[in-house]
Amino acid sequence: MKSNRRQFIATSLLTASAFSLPVAAQDKTNPAGEARTVSLRGRVICYTEELQKPYQVIPDCETRGHVYTLKTGDSRLYPFLPVDTAAAVWMDERYRQRELQVTARLFPQTNFIEVIKFQSWRNGKLHDLYYFCDVCYISSHKPGPCECCQDPVQFRETPAEDNK
Ligand SMILES: [Zn+2]
Ligand SMILES: [Zn+2]
Repeated sequence: MKSNRRQFIATSLLTASAFSLPVAAQDKTNPAGEARTVSLRGRVICYTEELQKPYQVIPDCETRGHVYTLKTGDSRLYPFLPVDTAAAVWMDERYRQRELQVTARLFPQTNFIEVIKFQSWRNGKLHDLYYFCDVCYISSHKPGPCECCQDPVQFRETPAEDNK
């Protein structure tokens, strides 16, 4: 199982770097600059609802969707781009309840983040968050049917290997 998990991470990183290649190539002509990889600790909030009290914004989340955002300990706000690697934030409330460590790409001139990896903090220790198919031994980053056998994948939260 551990080797599968490693394979999943390696694949995710490969995918991320594969996606970043054309972006890097464009950077020469992009005055905004390069995206950089960051690791952020915080909790998920809905930015629209966060503005309701102090600024009297009227949320319409039920029809327009939540603007899920990572709020860090120093109250900085990093909205999640609605990409597939971030899908679990919308699909699984556990991601919105836990204190998270998010590895992501941060883009120039905005605070929007593209999720690469989700981890959680439990009892002061870093855990990996993912889904797993016990039949096929395949990891996934979001709930739903296993891409192989179509059985539902199971949520997993296991101590991260980078714990010290
Ligand atoms: Zn909302
Ligand atoms: Zn399966």
